[in-house]
Amino acid sequence: MELQKLGKLSFLISQNVDNLHLRSGIRPDLLAELHGNITKLRCTRCEAEVDKSAGLGRCPCGGKLVSSVVNFGQPLPRKALADSYWHSENCALFIVAGSSLVVTPAADMPRVALESGARLVIINQGETPFDRVAHLRFWEGIREVLPPAVAQLKELMRVS
Ligand SMILES: [Zn+2]
Repeated sequence: MELQKLGKLSFLISQNVDNLHLRSGIRPDLLAELHGNITKLRCTRCEAEVDKSAGLGRCPCGGKLVSSVVNFGQPLPRKALADSYWHSENCALFIVAGSSLVVTPAADMPRVALESGARLVIINQGETPFDRVAHLRFWEGIREVLPPAVAQLKELMRVS
């Protein structure tokens, strides 16, 4: 959220379904919720997402609305997936925060970013398959790393 305010968040790929990112104020167009969102329904025909609270039975396109949460073995939302790959290919810096990078396709995206020339930063307390190739590796928790890093970034942006 702080990074978004600074204009330094180009995209956020999430495997969480808890709606916390949107509640914290992350712009929906900057977010891919690969595994869905417990507060949203998805149209089986056009993939549009609507809030459960809207109480709709069908999408305006006529398609059926089902839970947007992706269960094991189900396909991931196509647009979220395509956007995630596009941003992985086109970013300069890819930050992994609190993921062990074992569930594909999210686990595949740091590789795509690296192959496209991005720098890779990993913040995770457990091992990941990318530890040896990361440009910067933090073994602390996200809360110990990101807030001070963002504070420093703010300082730098003030100076420049
Ligand atoms: Zn629809």
